[in-house]
Amino acid sequence: MRLGVLAVQGDVREHAAILDEFGADVVLVRRPGEIDGLDGLVIPGGESTTMDKLTRAFDLAEPLRDAIAGGLPVYGSCAGMIMLADRVADPALDRQGDPQRTLGGIDMTVRRNAFGRQRESFEVTLDFTDVGDVPAVFIRAPLAEQVGDGVEVLARTPSDAPAQHPDGDADPEVRDTAGRIVAVRSGKLLATSFHPEVTGERRIHDLFIRMIRGEA
Ligand code: GLN
Repeated sequence: MRLGVLAVQGDVREHAAILDEFGADVVLVRRPGEIDGLDGLVIPGGESTTMDKLTRAFDLAEPLRDAIAGGLPVYGSCAGMIMLADRVADPALDRQGDPQRTLGGIDMTVRRNAFGRQRESFEVTLDFTDVGDVPAVFIRAPLAEQVGDGVEVLARTPSDAPAQHPDGDADPEVRDTAGRIVAVRSGKLLATSFHPEVTGERRIHDLFIRMIRGEA
């Protein structure tokens, strides 16, 4: 199986190492030609505004949009989840005042940095559909505020999710951190707010590979 990792920025090496453990032929995608022949692609965590700028600068944005529209299976973690969202509730603006763009593919609206900044990172155990209990680390993580009819919710934050720090930078719109959508699937697209690659978690990548094979 030939699996790409979008390699313009972020946790590229960590995802590549996990895919390699699964025996995949791993391609670090930095050029449009490297998308051809992929069976699937991972968009890592990092910073979605930087990924947006770099994918456009490297002429990757349009070919990636086309590939996603053409059915390429993609797993996006954290910033990758933002890149897969059709809509961003609170997009960053560049110096010209233009909002950040995403690649899209999943009919959902995401909110960035919903749970706060780096120092407010937290770990909880999620009840993840078809996977089970998953320890999940949220680092400046987004959440899905709204999802379309074709989108399956795979995990929500538990009822004991930590409350927002009153002096923190968490989005004031997110008053209740419990029951928030943090993992979704839409066809062959999978997205999680958290980073399985930092906790030694392999089951999310396993799920993605089973999705590609048509076994999940
Ligand atoms: N907040 C980041 C963004 O907007 C995502 C954080 C992450 O990937 N850890 O892209």
